[in-house]
Amino acid sequence: MRHTNIEQQITNYIKLFPSYEKILNFFKEITIEQNKYIEDTKIIPPDIKKSLKEIHLKEGFPLIDKRDFFIDINSSINLFDSLCNISRNANEKLRINIQYIEDALSINALNPREIMRNFFDDLYIEKIAGEFDIDLTVLKFLIYESIKPSIILNVEKISKENEIKNWYKGYCPICGSIPDISKLDRDGKRFLKCSFCNFIWQSERLKCPFCDNTDNKKLRYFYAEDHEEYRVDLCDNCNQYIKTVDSRKINYDPFLSVDDIVTIHLDIIAQEKGYKRPASSLWGL
Ligand SMILES: [Zn+2]
Ligand SMILES: [Zn+2]
Repeated sequence: MRHTNIEQQITNYIKLFPSYEKILNFFKEITIEQNKYIEDTKIIPPDIKKSLKEIHLKEGFPLIDKRDFFIDINSSINLFDSLCNISRNANEKLRINIQYIEDALSINALNPREIMRNFFDDLYIEKIAGEFDIDLTVLKFLIYESIKPSIILNVEKISKENEIKNWYKGYCPICGSIPDISKLDRDGKRFLKCSFCNFIWQSERLKCPFCDNTDNKKLRYFYAEDHEEYRVDLCDNCNQYIKTVDSRKINYDPFLSVDDIVTIHLDIIAQEKGYKRPASSLWGL
């Protein structure tokens, strides 16, 4: 989903969560840069086969495979370069790893075109990271953020051309990925956000999205101590969790990627309790 007024929105979050100021400013810079690129990003929207559309709802098939998202490679390479420049000042870990990336690029050992083309291939990215001693989380983060304008445009097209409703599953109707965060809207309806393409879809309120458990004795939650709008939904069937933002307890529309950042402390608490986060965050948790 494309966000408008990003600067203002994130500035408001910084006021509410001053301890996350540094990371939020970093996220803001990245998002503003991506928005600049989005205007010039050109995509050929993936053609959803009629046969797939038909079984989509009936049999719960996502509309496309992650690898079939159309990526504007040139634009992604340029954005990768800009993001490296922004990120090198964010912290020491990023600075060192971006140095490794640039060293490898400068001797043509690393091919940016190949990296962008293989964005969906975890094994390929792991191999590259290992070969050049680059931290895997950092490399994945930079690649993903570089292709994000293309992904946003793909999702806009696909969701406009295909009616997506009555899905209610624990994985994304567009790309099949699992959710990374959820929200309750003002009417208390539950929505999940895709960890890959960021599409938001409605799901059942009392169900673990990861194992479909609906036994309420095995579904619990705890709240953030000083921010009751945030809670962590725990499933004792699969021992996994997802964070949820309750829109009824705030007077603004949640910006879920940002909510995911300002609740990093809740990930730590949930993981200390022994629960796992299935879709790891870009921040390495
Ligand atoms: Zn998705
Ligand atoms: Zn579960």
